[in-house]
Amino acid sequence: MKKHYDVIVIGVGSMGAATCSHLARRKISVLGLEQFDIPHNRGAHHGLSRMIRQSYYEHADYVPLLKRSYELWHELEDETDCKILTLNGGLYIGPADGEIVKGSLQSAREHHLPHQHMDRSAIAERFPQFSLPDHFEALFEENAGFVVPELAVGSHVELALRHGAELHGHEAVHDWTSNASGVTVTTHQGTYQADRLVITAGAWSARLLESLGIPLSVTRQVLAWTTPRQAEAFAPERFPCWFIETEPGFGHYGFPILPGQPGFKSALHKPSRIVDPDTVERDPLPE
Ligand SMILES: Cc1cc2nc3c(=O)[nH]c(=O)nc-3n(C[C@H](O)[C@H](O)[C@H](O)COP(=O)(O)OP(=O)(O)OC[C@H]3O[C@@H](n4cnc5c(N)ncnc54)[C@H](O)[C@@H]3O)c2cc1C
Repeated sequence: MKKHYDVIVIGVGSMGAATCSHLARRKISVLGLEQFDIPHNRGAHHGLSRMIRQSYYEHADYVPLLKRSYELWHELEDETDCKILTLNGGLYIGPADGEIVKGSLQSAREHHLPHQHMDRSAIAERFPQFSLPDHFEALFEENAGFVVPELAVGSHVELALRHGAELHGHEAVHDWTSNASGVTVTTHQGTYQADRLVITAGAWSARLLESLGIPLSVTRQVLAWTTPRQAEAFAPERFPCWFIETEPGFGHYGFPILPGQPGFKSALHKPSRIVDPDTVERDPLPE
């Protein structure tokens, strides 16, 4: 007989693992299905650091959600005895009239978030690691830092299992259908039924959402680790998470050197060419 759940979650990455743990804690019977290992290195939860900040340049309306997320990260850390969040500060740099500095200031002021508005000489004095154009300014926020995404997934999974969730790794979902009595989900190993379905399939979502007519495109994102000559100047105690706006709304961002890592991570925040997540070239290219 097909087993019936309250909820099936397709994809146990950042969002799916959190969904499974929060549902299970509310005593909702949940099945999480993941096509690879949990966690793994092909999804959006790979790479050891994800920046977290409150003075959101994107829009001040995000701030209450971000404050709540900090509470939830701390709760997760307490419940799993695992350090996931490090608040080593965030420095958002760009032209004074650019989106990053203006937007971050707007959020900080509207929500009374602690912050420092710095001109170029103040940045140079406190963070000599940066060499910036004269017209650049920054907002520094102490209450920013990074989450370790693999630990976030692992901790949510631990909690989900503790509260009775059923999680299957290496079980890709091929198809799902719905009718008035619920949803049916098919994998190469079986068929499962539930009242509700949550699709948290990240870069693979387009295929699963095709029948709903939701168009999504996936772009290749490249990360780099750089070993500086003076590594001690890039330790989390001295070097913040940072974002430099190099064109409106886009730019480069990076992290301090994390324990056990040979250098600091940096990347470009901008969509690049459209790819298929199953066939994307994962090695560095000359471009
Ligand atoms: C390079 C990079 C840098 C980023 N930096 C930041 C940052 O600094 N700060 C920040 O806040 N956010 C950042 N993000 C965004 C953040 O990491 C993502 O929003 C988040 O990880 C997305 O989680 P997800 O669950 O949607 O995807 P994933 O974690 O990839 O999870 C999706 C899961 O679904 C599984 N799946 C897919 N299809 C199926 C199927 N058919 N059957 C079973 N399983 C399936 C996949 O294998 C995968 O494990 C970054 C993202 C990237 C890619």
